[in-house]
Amino acid sequence: MIDGVLLKGYGGFYYVYGEDRVWECSLRGRFRIKDQEFLPGDRVTILPKEEENKGTIESVAPRRNELTRPPIANVDQAILVFAMTSPKPDLNLLDRLLIQAADSDIEPIIVFTKVDKYQETVLQGAPNLYELTEDYRKIGYTVFEVSSKTGQGIPEIGDRLKNKISVLAGPSGAGKSSLVNALSPGKELKTGQISSKSKRGRHTTRHVELMVCSGGLLADTPGFSSLLLPEMKRAELADYFPEFADFLGGCRFNSCLHDKEPNCVIKAALEEGRISPVRYEHYLLYLKEVIEAERKY
Ligand code: GDP
Repeated sequence: MIDGVLLKGYGGFYYVYGEDRVWECSLRGRFRIKDQEFLPGDRVTILPKEEENKGTIESVAPRRNELTRPPIANVDQAILVFAMTSPKPDLNLLDRLLIQAADSDIEPIIVFTKVDKYQETVLQGAPNLYELTEDYRKIGYTVFEVSSKTGQGIPEIGDRLKNKISVLAGPSGAGKSSLVNALSPGKELKTGQISSKSKRGRHTTRHVELMVCSGGLLADTPGFSSLLLPEMKRAELADYFPEFADFLGGCRFNSCLHDKEPNCVIKAALEEGRISPVRYEHYLLYLKEVIEAERKY
């Protein structure tokens, strides 16, 4: 028996990555029931057949988590890709993605791309964005600054992909396809191939699949394309802001939402410069949305 991970199902076969190769598998009889749905990312055991690189799927492990967009199981981490410049990073989107990842129990890794281009703009007098990347690092997030053009920071991201199932997320034009190309030399994707738009041709159906990349598995379709926050109670929102953790519990009111209440430690920390004003602004924006959504139930 061999342990593996399902890369994709296609044409009645299941392609499983195990022991450094891809196995074309069929299903055992007991799995051939209608409501059994496999997802890329499912951890399976396979029994090799005599024919080379063929086997049957014998068992499937319970899922740790399950994304719907793209439909992938057991996702370990989300690589949140934002350009440092062109386009300017949309921090509101980034902060929403951080909340969505935490809600799905997926570790976020923030990657700021186009450092080479950015360095040129700094020379021309643009504001220093490294302070911003440092802000996220201080909060405790993993942050990389990379250039797919010069290769800066690429090996470090490659190391983070090893033995993990990862999904890319981030706006179009941020440099996701270029990043994948830089990570997998020799297996060039067309620029723009990792695209949030599903490109359904007339005769083809788009299948989500995992691809082998830098010793790990990476979804070929970006995830978390929605701006929507997960369903939660208003008091839970602060837990999604790790920089609030040291202060929580210190407010005068137990039910403090860190908005207009007096004697609020979060607002005090903001005034002392210990919490970023942009992050706090996003907190207030999301609080409104969460309260609005609560009212609808
Ligand atoms: P995607 O839509 O997120 O997949 O973004 P692409 O990978 O298609 O990149 C969008 C554009 O940015 C393309 O013209 C790329 O050549 C360019 N680009 C991506 N990464 C870098 C980088 O690190 N440096 C520079 N200078 N350009 C980049």
